[in-house]
Amino acid sequence: MGGRAFISTRGRAPACGFADVLLAGLAPDGGLYMPAAWPHFSKAEITAFAGKPYQDVAFEVLSQFAGADFTDAELKEDIAAAYCGFEHAAIAPLRPIGPDQFLLELFHGPTFAFKDIALQILGRLFARALKRRGGRATIVAATSGDTGSAAIAALGGLPNIDVFVLHPKGRVSEVQRRQMTTSPHGNVHNIAIEGSFDDAQHIVKSLFADTDFASAISLTAVNSINFVRIAAQCVYYFTAAATLKAAPTFVVPTGNFGDIFAGEAAGRMGLDIARLVIATNANDIMARALNTGVYEAGAAHHTISPSMDIQVASNFERALFEASGRDAGWTASAMATFARDRKLVLPDNIRRALEARYAASASNDDETLAVIRDLSREQGIVIDPHTAVAVAAARKMKNLAAPVVILSTAHPAKFGDAVTRATGTAPTLPSPLAAVMNVPEKLDVMAADAALIKGFISSRLKP
Ligand SMILES: *Cc1c(COP(=O)(O)O)cnc(C)c1O
Repeated sequence: MGGRAFISTRGRAPACGFADVLLAGLAPDGGLYMPAAWPHFSKAEITAFAGKPYQDVAFEVLSQFAGADFTDAELKEDIAAAYCGFEHAAIAPLRPIGPDQFLLELFHGPTFAFKDIALQILGRLFARALKRRGGRATIVAATSGDTGSAAIAALGGLPNIDVFVLHPKGRVSEVQRRQMTTSPHGNVHNIAIEGSFDDAQHIVKSLFADTDFASAISLTAVNSINFVRIAAQCVYYFTAAATLKAAPTFVVPTGNFGDIFAGEAAGRMGLDIARLVIATNANDIMARALNTGVYEAGAAHHTISPSMDIQVASNFERALFEASGRDAGWTASAMATFARDRKLVLPDNIRRALEARYAASASNDDETLAVIRDLSREQGIVIDPHTAVAVAAARKMKNLAAPVVILSTAHPAKFGDAVTRATGTAPTLPSPLAAVMNVPEKLDVMAADAALIKGFISSRLKP
């Protein structure tokens, strides 16, 4: 199989291969990597995904991107190992919650949120590629809660890799924090930032911008800007649609726009999708962008769905690149405008292209709690607050084409306080989550200051 080339959304980085994209995360021109051309599956190939094991479909999709960088045997081995720890044989099962309405459950992995689906495979491929290239890697991730624990679960204890995770202090749930801070591995370093998720993400971006520092420590990103995560997340869009034998509407609880962009990617690879619905909480930058045509950062709101408490949706750059007909010059200048003004007015052609694929709806905490309560009372199904934001969007939006598939991104026990507020009953903690409640925590609290964080990372990396 030939190698597939990857290019930057900003057009000023050399084209490179899958393993380079995996190891680098962000492109050197500040853009995000995209395949130079999308692979394509025929209708017959997609129909044939129905009934196949999830791992087989993952191999079909990922091998299209990986090209010659990993052998088929290597990919199959890592995919099998990635998903053997999942608690559900289907990996991403569909659960009916109404006529032609389904939850696509993505939380059956080791940290009980959908980030595991991509990071379990990414961690294994990363270790393999690093071993081949030689040297060390330093992974620095900003997290709103779930990426951090999933990255730690995937990378903790691996040789030649250090993992630094920055989370906003006091703004992740207790279970989320403990999942990160109770890792037994010496290569895991937790930093609680006195600030918001956007402050943490901004610090990570400034570490990358300091190219001397970044290259000295072989800095890498595994957050959702890493294209390999998008590639791994396309898979469940294919399996869900093939199982339902229809072109679904997918409703996606959205923060950094990675998960829903994986839906656009699946569409560009040949999957029939009726519409992708962006569901946000009160941090509604994406809902406003779609509904008003202005992409503008607002004030950060602290909500009961903290993994979506995000004002800047990094992966939206990928959708803008596609909506502009892959105009890297326009994308680069649009992102520069947004970086300067915190605001970007979408030109009509871009807006129309986005509207042809996406719709959007925002819900506040009261609406989210009401949905959790109703679903629990009416059907005895308990959902987490992120999933509930998407169910709320599906209920508010009229005329969604059936079937409607709502991505269920976390286990309710990860967000026990919110679920208890809605239903009056605390969800039972699965035993791996109960176990982290009694282990001593390891973390450092630091001001949201890039220079301080840089010093901390350097001191931890001293041999
Ligand atoms: C990360 C996360 C989201 C948002 O996904 P994005 O790819 O950032 O849009 C939604 N729900 C949960 C539980 C998450 O952890």
